[in-house]
Amino acid sequence: MKKIAILGSTGSIGTQTLEIVRENTDLEVTALAAGNNITLLEQQIREFKPRIVAVWSKEKADILQDRVKDLQVKVLSGMDGLKEVAVEKDAEILVTAIVGMIGILPTIEAIKAKKNIALANKETLVTAGHIIMPLAKEYGVSILPVDSEHSAIFQSLQGGQRNALHKILLTASGGPFRGKKRNELVNIQVEDALKHPNWEMGRKITIDSSTLINKGLEVIEAKWLFDVSIDQIEVVVHPQSIIHSMVEYEDGAVLAQLGTPDMKLPIQYALYYPERRFLKGERLDFKKLSQLTFEKPDMETFYGLKLAYEAGRVGGSLPTVFNAANEKAVALFLERKIGYLQIPQIVQECMEQHQVITNPTIEEVLSIEQETYEFIKNRW
Ligand code: NDP
Repeated sequence: MKKIAILGSTGSIGTQTLEIVRENTDLEVTALAAGNNITLLEQQIREFKPRIVAVWSKEKADILQDRVKDLQVKVLSGMDGLKEVAVEKDAEILVTAIVGMIGILPTIEAIKAKKNIALANKETLVTAGHIIMPLAKEYGVSILPVDSEHSAIFQSLQGGQRNALHKILLTASGGPFRGKKRNELVNIQVEDALKHPNWEMGRKITIDSSTLINKGLEVIEAKWLFDVSIDQIEVVVHPQSIIHSMVEYEDGAVLAQLGTPDMKLPIQYALYYPERRFLKGERLDFKKLSQLTFEKPDMETFYGLKLAYEAGRVGGSLPTVFNAANEKAVALFLERKIGYLQIPQIVQECMEQHQVITNPTIEEVLSIEQETYEFIKNRW
């Protein structure tokens, strides 16, 4: 029996992880954590019978505790609750499917407790990769990518000579506004940006996909996961999202992973790695694939991607500012307090005013996140 804990069980990745658990009798859930959705969390508790669960707010945790008093489950709250879920003693693997930098501290605790990490929460690596990756090495823990592109790279690297890796080709769908110029994006509304052409995801990542900032976060995530320089990572727009990413070796050979767009494949691969299991779902039918096309990303219109390259190249605390500024700007856009084009503009202004710290501690990373939020609050 493989035992798992999930941070963010009520979200898009979290619920798909539970679908995989439902399909496999040798997977067991020992701990779950969610933010607000206690109705869904209660259903998950009744179905999967975890030993402990955590809800972010104390008030909601108390309501949930009362609703599940007929069951043997401990209900916790706040950061302490997230950390307890992360280190639940029987779990072998922690799925980090929470959104935002809130995932950093529980991930660190899980690594110290020698849990392997199935990592969806890219913000953790983007901002604290310089701490997480050496820590995982020190504790002999694997960081297994869940992001479909990184899973594709990871799969394409299996059996290959790691030191012969020349470059990573990170594919991007281009989002709903591919081909548009900046003046055509002025009046974009929340509903327009939430329509992703190929993937169904949480709200924040869907907006990030439309601005290409998600691809930027993925570039920095790939740098940490695969120990390459930022300039070894090339973004290739591939609107059909069939090739999930590729690696090019020193001899020019390119290996890729292809499939229908379904997050369950990378999630399951991370849970069972290195084993491959049967997975229900649509298969690729090459006879029906009329074309696979590729383009250069438009980094002038979608300059958030250019800013990500800059943040990744400079490193230190700049990726934290990039990420935190984007997180807040997206939240403001979703609340309809700013326009669509202000998202990259806010990110740029925050990056410009920041004094970079070369090798920030976790405390510094977390305080820079707060300072960036403050800066935005005072200006927009
Ligand atoms: P969702 O918004 O769908 O889900 C986020 C989850 O995190 C929810 O369960 C939410 O709980 C929980 N959460 C948020 N804040 C807190 C908190 N303070 N304490 C505890 N739980 C919290 O996001 P996604 O599933 O789309 O994304 C999750 C992560 O995976 C992100 O980092 C994203 O970039 C990454 N990712 C997602 C992909 C996708 O296909 N969705 C693909 C690749 C990566 P609640 O809803 O109960 O408030």
